[in-house]
Amino acid sequence: DTAAHTQPFQAEVSELLHLMVHSVYSETDIFLRELISNASDACDKLRYEAIATPALLGEGEAPKIRIIPNKQAGTLTVADNGIGMERQELIDHLGTIARSGTKAFVAKLKEAKDGLGLIGQFGVGFYSAFMVADRIVVISRRAGESDVWTWTSSGGSGFEIARASDEDAARVTRGTEIVLHLKDDAKKYLEAYEIERIVGAYSDNILFPIELVPEEGEPRQINSASALWQRSKSELTAEDYKQAYKQIATAFDDPAMTLHYRAEGRYSYAVLLFAPSTKPFDLFEPSRKGRVKLYVRRVFITDDADLLPGYLRFVRGVVDSEDLPLNISREMLQNNPQLAQIRKAVTTRVVSELESLADKDAENFAKIWDAFGAVVKEGIYEDFERREKLLSLSRFTTTTGEKRALKEVVADFKPNQTEIYYLVGDSIERLKSNPRLEAATARGIEVLLLTDPVDAFWTSMPSEFDGKPLKSLSQGDLNLDLIPRVDEEKKDEPAADEAATIAVIKGSLGERVSDVKASTRLTSSASCLVADSQGPSRELERILAQQNR
Ligand code: ADP
Ligand code: MG
Repeated sequence: DTAAHTQPFQAEVSELLHLMVHSVYSETDIFLRELISNASDACDKLRYEAIATPALLGEGEAPKIRIIPNKQAGTLTVADNGIGMERQELIDHLGTIARSGTKAFVAKLKEAKDGLGLIGQFGVGFYSAFMVADRIVVISRRAGESDVWTWTSSGGSGFEIARASDEDAARVTRGTEIVLHLKDDAKKYLEAYEIERIVGAYSDNILFPIELVPEEGEPRQINSASALWQRSKSELTAEDYKQAYKQIATAFDDPAMTLHYRAEGRYSYAVLLFAPSTKPFDLFEPSRKGRVKLYVRRVFITDDADLLPGYLRFVRGVVDSEDLPLNISREMLQNNPQLAQIRKAVTTRVVSELESLADKDAENFAKIWDAFGAVVKEGIYEDFERREKLLSLSRFTTTTGEKRALKEVVADFKPNQTEIYYLVGDSIERLKSNPRLEAATARGIEVLLLTDPVDAFWTSMPSEFDGKPLKSLSQGDLNLDLIPRVDEEKKDEPAADEAATIAVIKGSLGERVSDVKASTRLTSSASCLVADSQGPSRELERILAQQNR
């Protein structure tokens, strides 16, 4: 059928577009970065599908991206000859917001007063084009298909889908043209120098050639289109890396850590990884998926290969293998022994890089720890092999009020102290007034105050650091008698008759407690509840009970 169909946007899209259209946000340049990034993804997908189905590439040109300004028509077109979209894909992909991160983002946008600043920080994909265009026409042909469709919207409540005109269908032989009818105040984007400036700033490392097609003269390539991770470190500047990070991770902050190396030997591969300096919205999604991209000889394969364990899911970047077969299916990746080796080696390298960052650049390490520490600590109970290393990386708020490494806590041990003490709870303030701290305070012992939900999990298994067991102040027996007190001990207190007191208390509590014991745990409070040294801590029981509700 050739009749146009009008379809409503998903509610979140309408909200987002409303914000976008009425935005006074000044950094509108990012729309071009978003469209180029989508075009590049489409070229990646085509190359990937063409591994199994070479006919998709046909006689057509190699994947590339073209930017075509037209002053007379007032339009700017971003065209790619990538995978393209069928009718239903146009409806699904350009009418809804698929990424859960974006949903969270829209919610944030609405609640924040200066929410528009967030647009630049987090990006809003395709829809950002409505900052500069009052009408957008998308013409697309999926590779290998005969039908060509157009999607048209003025950013209101919906869009229209129709069969493309013969003229459009003849021109678009594969891929997608995004035609932006620019708003009056966005006409500067028709100038070649503006386009080159933005591409240079944001999209220089896109792997595919980006051509500027001027109204007069020959098309010319305006990006360097090199796989930056394949170049040698000595050629690259800090600025190059920052740019590559923003583009590879579609991120808007600066990286707090950059790791670039090439592994040679049994397997060869290039690695370029970054740790962000700020927290994304979807960090605590249950899927715990990482998004490190796997390339094979510069062809993008997938960002779903779990190249790093869940507790490093915040790390972004690329691993480009020389030896994996190009036609490896995404399903085969799960069980590929070579990839398992790469995973292991890269994980070890990332952890050791974090360690050396902690030593050499405490400021950037602190950024990573503040944003992702709670995630890294998942590794303490998941990654048995690296537990001690992860414990050594971890920073804990202690009774000193500072964030401290275990190394520092151990260095400040009191005479005769052999264990590292901690308390788990839901806020530092409440932990500080916990009577279970009294005996430690009386001896000047530094205690870890653990308040992340994950703390209840990793502390539920025995661990030690540097040969010193970690010990809860609220669980099991506690004997601090050998450690001298530093407070004023009340000397001439009459010795209590322990046995008689315990008998009275046991008699009145009966079955409600499993035991009553005398202890030096407290100094000014009379009594407290403690959990058994076996079995879950009270905090873990509390979290599990919450999750089961
Ligand atoms: P994201 O790129 O993060 O998925 P976008 O809003 O930028 O979000 O794009 C939404 C979806 O629209 C993409 O995931 C893709 O499926 C589709 N899309 C956008 N532009 C193109 C294009 N040039 N070619 C093919 N598909 C595209
Ligand atoms: Mg995108």
